[in-house]
Amino acid sequence: MGSHTFKGGVHIPNPYPVEKPEIKQVPPPEQVVLLLQQRVGGEAKPCVELGDRVLTGQVIAQTAGQFPINVHASISGIISAIEKRPIPHPSEIDAMCIVIDSDGKDEWIEIEKCDKDFLNCSAEKVIQRIREAGIVGMGGAGFPTHAKITNAQGAHTLIINATECEPGIMCDDSLMQEYPREIIRGIEVLMHACGAKKVIVSIEDDKQEALNSLLMYSFNDRISIEKIPTKYTSGAEKLLIRALLNLEIPSGEHASDHGILCQNVGTVKAIYDAVIDNKPLISRIVTVTGSAVKHPQNYEARLGTSFAQVVECSEPNNQEHDIRMGGMMMGVDIPSAQYSICKITNCIFVNNKEPDRVVKECIRCSSCASVCPANLLPQQLYWHAKSENIEKALEYNLMDCIECGCCNYVCPSNIPLAEYFSFAKALDRKLKREEIRIDRSRDRFEFREFRLERNKKERAEMMSVKKIALKEKMAKDKEKGQVQKDKITQAMARIKKTKEDNA
Ligand code: SF4
Ligand code: SF4
Repeated sequence: MGSHTFKGGVHIPNPYPVEKPEIKQVPPPEQVVLLLQQRVGGEAKPCVELGDRVLTGQVIAQTAGQFPINVHASISGIISAIEKRPIPHPSEIDAMCIVIDSDGKDEWIEIEKCDKDFLNCSAEKVIQRIREAGIVGMGGAGFPTHAKITNAQGAHTLIINATECEPGIMCDDSLMQEYPREIIRGIEVLMHACGAKKVIVSIEDDKQEALNSLLMYSFNDRISIEKIPTKYTSGAEKLLIRALLNLEIPSGEHASDHGILCQNVGTVKAIYDAVIDNKPLISRIVTVTGSAVKHPQNYEARLGTSFAQVVECSEPNNQEHDIRMGGMMMGVDIPSAQYSICKITNCIFVNNKEPDRVVKECIRCSSCASVCPANLLPQQLYWHAKSENIEKALEYNLMDCIECGCCNYVCPSNIPLAEYFSFAKALDRKLKREEIRIDRSRDRFEFREFRLERNKKERAEMMSVKKIALKEKMAKDKEKGQVQKDKITQAMARIKKTKEDNA
């Protein structure tokens, strides 16, 4: 049993809490733009063509490889484009998308039922159903759920992460209040799929209504619902495990290496939908909040719906906005609301534009170190990241940084420390790729040298064999010529003798 808390982290009040816990439904839009590239794994390949009519829930693209993730039509209608579109990312990059124009019918495809009782299905069949439904980690990580369950087969403990990952995001709180029965049932499906005997649902102590709702439906004595203090970053997987089980997962290792499977509560609801309700992942809960909206609220929106349509429901003001996808700490700033909801869009922050904060020199106050939940020394890391001394940054455990931004939050000099660490990690990846590239070029060069040398040697050996054979042939020919010569001399001698005898 753990202490249910951890060193470091920060208490951040939610600046714009939702007015009501109900989840409002955003009507199916007239057009959806569905992203084919998920956060993890390769780009899905379309299995439909331009002009095809598709039904809601139909698979329209599939990925192969290690982490296959299906993409489904989130409305019924006509495929009007398969092309690159801008995706919600600070780099403003494009990625392949499928665009569907609605026919206004929202007609569903018939999906074969798993079984009346999922307990009659094997764990493999349940995992396959989760894979086919295109479910990824709904907390924002986006890792394919079926792969995570497969990796954790035989886990002894299942942890359901019902702590909102960061301040501002409120979708899980509403989800637990609206769908407690489905969540408890989804947990039971997950227990069956991974084999865990024990489940801990971890929930922050400021979510009493959600906790009461879950308790009303939780009759399984293998499931315990445990409160943890409301503190950012309690939702980070390794910190949660440390807090609940007093177990430290070493750097470079995963929870599954220690017999633990962690799943977000939103993922559990998606599992319920897929296995019990036969619905693939075609919508998700999104929080719309921020200083520029009149009504912070949670919405259920079809995947591919534009941010603008969802934001409009919260009545944004007419000023200029800063838009952020994700929470106030780890979210990413995006240039506008002209993007579409994807599987990992848990929150859209719409804030009034504010002047950039002035960054000052580090005053060595150590505040950053005192809040770091990963026990790092952010100030030292910052010097090395800033000077691009990646080797030194790695010595200071750069890779253990979870980029939570607690250090940014307390830094009196407004230094964007987490951004430096993210940049340093990206640089490390680039250098490693470069190293691999150089290693490969060297290997190619060495192989070419070896091949040329080997060819030369083989040619020399061949020439030598030919030379010997020629010599032998010449010697034989010479010998043969001599025998012939001797025979002629002998014949001549015989003729001469015959002539002399006859004279
Ligand atoms: S909190 Fe900011 S100013 Fe203080 S030591 Fe850390 S980086 Fe420097
Ligand atoms: S961003 Fe990294 S260094 Fe900063 S507090 Fe979080 S884990 Fe520590």
